[in-house]
Amino acid sequence: MKRGVLIVLSGPSGVGKGTVRKALFEEPDIDFTYSISMTTRQPRNGEVDGEDYFFVNRNEFEENITAGNMLEYAEYVGNYYGTPKSFIDNTLASGHDVFLEIDVQGALQVKEKMPEGAYIFLTPPDLQALKERLVGRGTDDPEIIDRRVAAASSEIRMMSKYDYAVVNDEVQLAVQRIKDIVKVERLRVNRI
Ligand code: 5GP
Repeated sequence: MKRGVLIVLSGPSGVGKGTVRKALFEEPDIDFTYSISMTTRQPRNGEVDGEDYFFVNRNEFEENITAGNMLEYAEYVGNYYGTPKSFIDNTLASGHDVFLEIDVQGALQVKEKMPEGAYIFLTPPDLQALKERLVGRGTDDPEIIDRRVAAASSEIRMMSKYDYAVVNDEVQLAVQRIKDIVKVERLRVNRI
């Protein structure tokens, strides 16, 4: 049986990973399975538990770490974020492609454990564009925005550790580039 392809979309916070992921999943020919992360951050308006994230408290998250249930996790701006492991293993084994959207620290941890995946770095055209996006999103205080921009400028240096880089200058273009990468990866992983 064909094995699924692991696709990891990563990049600095505010680059538009979530927007690109949502647009990608609206494409008619996409049949990836989305890996829902666990986080201790509070839900934002409109976010649904079990769809956007599994929202848990710090104790629950730490119990999952201790039990070895997380493929990776990271602490980011005061909250834990992580990827539950068994879901990914089972989905890939059943021949379905899994799509992860995670931060840079997390993606590099996953790459150590699963180097066969396709690691895609989504980059802003420049840092000013990133800051404008974070301000425009209106979900973070100015102090948090400054921390996110500072984190982004060091994360951009990690781009060379990825297999592919995609500039998020225009969402539909970024979506098309990612779809092309996935086609190439399916050929590579299954040698067809
Ligand atoms: P946000 O609070 O904006 O939803 O997410 C903050 C950052 O955490 C984003 O860069 C997002 O991609 C990242 N993130 C989401 N899920 C995970 C995960 O499971 N693991 C890691 N390491 N980062 C994640």
